[in-house]
Amino acid sequence: KGSDGLYTVSLIEGDGIGPEISQSVKDIFAAAKAPIKWEPVDVTPQLRDGKTTIPAETIKSIEKNKVALKGPLATPIGKGHVSLNLTLRRTFNLFANVRPCRSIAGYKTPYDNVDTVLIRENTEGEYSGIEHVVVDGVVQSIKLITREASERVLRFAFQYAEDVGRLKVRAVHKATIMKMSDGLFLSTADRVAKDFPSVEFDAELLDNTCLKIVTDPTPYNDKVLVMPNLYGDILSDMCAGLIGGLGLTPSGNIGDECSIFEAVHGSAPDIAGKGLANPTALLLSSIMMLRHMELNDHATRIEKAIFDTLAEGKTLTGDLGGKSKTHEYAGAIIKRL
Ligand code: NAD
Repeated sequence: KGSDGLYTVSLIEGDGIGPEISQSVKDIFAAAKAPIKWEPVDVTPQLRDGKTTIPAETIKSIEKNKVALKGPLATPIGKGHVSLNLTLRRTFNLFANVRPCRSIAGYKTPYDNVDTVLIRENTEGEYSGIEHVVVDGVVQSIKLITREASERVLRFAFQYAEDVGRLKVRAVHKATIMKMSDGLFLSTADRVAKDFPSVEFDAELLDNTCLKIVTDPTPYNDKVLVMPNLYGDILSDMCAGLIGGLGLTPSGNIGDECSIFEAVHGSAPDIAGKGLANPTALLLSSIMMLRHMELNDHATRIEKAIFDTLAEGKTLTGDLGGKSKTHEYAGAIIKRL
């Protein structure tokens, strides 16, 4: 927090639709007089010693501010770059990815009452990036699960459950098949659960979770789901589908020191630059960010303006069946503030 009473937050506008949806957040925050000063940072990848890195000034900015808001970053395929998203998560050790999905009044989906919270291990598992050719035609990819990373994300999940009063944690796994790796995740969960006696704990097989959530999501409304990396990636997109798609779902990447908040969706190159993007996912990510910074009153006020605008249904973007441009939707939110 600066002497002007404002909190500085690093802002990565991102690629594709990133600049358009970031503009909506900036306009709405300015109109709401949210006490945030944006510090724009550049994450153009640099290859140093054969490794993808982000510019040193960007790392410094995020380390100093501790909090960043990030638009989507396009991942070049097969150009020798590791995904920048992965690089950011590794650079700042953002070990937990929190992904809530709540039904939105005004956008009809098969279920009206979805309220899931999923916490994904963010640093290892199948996404460790350890792959090699054994012999021509045979590739091996290593799924790395450590007790340390599992315990870290599990402790976070239980603590989160306590903090928000959602007092049931469920670990999602495939320890029946991956007896050692998921087995370690599960046995760690059992042990961590003992340190949180006020939180109920159980476990469920991933395939079973998928089947049950799409059949009836309501039994998940009082639970925090926690799981290894790949499962969380896929299951959270499935939950996003239950509430109306990627234009609506926020996330927070949480580390010990720094946290980066971002929409779940990518850079949407098919609609970039046309004013068609729905900024809600990034907006709701910025609301999660405000709550993380304990600026709860500002968060609630902006969130209400967003939800009321969506519920009214007059100024929706194309992905929600409306005809409005990104800035018209943002303008409707600003009017309600
Ligand atoms: P995507 O999420 O960008 O797009 C999937 C579909 O959803 C597209 O039809 C797109 O138009 C639509 N969509 C996404 N966000 C929207 C929004 N806010 N409003 C309206 N419609 C929206 O996924 P993709 O096409 O597979 O990926 C594009 C690029 O984004 C790739 O380079 C990928 O690596 C990258 N990506 C980045 C992140 C991230 O930065 N966290 C996440 C996923 C994908």
